Amino acid sequence: MDPNYAKETSREQEVKEENTDVKDINSRINISLKSAAVGATIANPVYLKDCPHVITRSEWGALPPTRKANLATPVTNVIIHHSAGLSCITKSSCTELVENIQKYHMETNGWCDIGYSFLVGEDGNIYEGRGWNTVGAHTRGYNTTGYGICFLGTFTDRTPNSAAQNAATSLIRHATIRGYLHPDYVVKGHRDLGDTVCPGTELYNMIKHWPRYQGS
Ligand SMILES: [Zn+2]
Repeated sequence: MDPNYAKETSREQEVKEENTDVKDINSRINISLKSAAVGATIANPVYLKDCPHVITRSEWGALPPTRKANLATPVTNVIIHHSAGLSCITKSSCTELVENIQKYHMETNGWCDIGYSFLVGEDGNIYEGRGWNTVGAHTRGYNTTGYGICFLGTFTDRTPNSAAQNAATSLIRHATIRGYLHPDYVVKGHRDLGDTVCPGTELYNMIKHWPRYQGS
């Protein structure tokens, strides 16, 4: 488990506060963006061929959240994390890790749900966390303006395999096409935004080469 979880237990409260003032405006913006996004999807056959494989919450057996706050989209940040735990290369082992992380976040940290927006396994699957439309608890100060994407594993000394890398980049591309991510979005590592070694040095060095990376 990420040793920084403990430090971040106050994030839920922060999210709650940040979210209150912007909620009404958000729902209005959401309606028009979602309609535009549907059109973009249908008109883009390249996207249809290349969409990420997302294992939904019901598929991996997520516990229901104890509460949730709507996220205003499009957001402008993608924040990359690692789970700082075991890695997985099969759907069953990745599912087990995701279940354990959710239990840890809810039972130990007392959060309302798994903190991350999405999790990426080295089985090449994306696991839905809070998803596109719910405020996460992943990065202090950025939960209402970004998606937290967590690679399952510890990436201090190695990068995620190509299946995981491709899954993550495909997810991000999908998010721009569907209008969840702003066209001018930027990618950051968790350590750019807080006192943490997350997402591990090798994964951090990797995302620095992504075209939309922008440090602190
Ligand atoms: Zn992190």
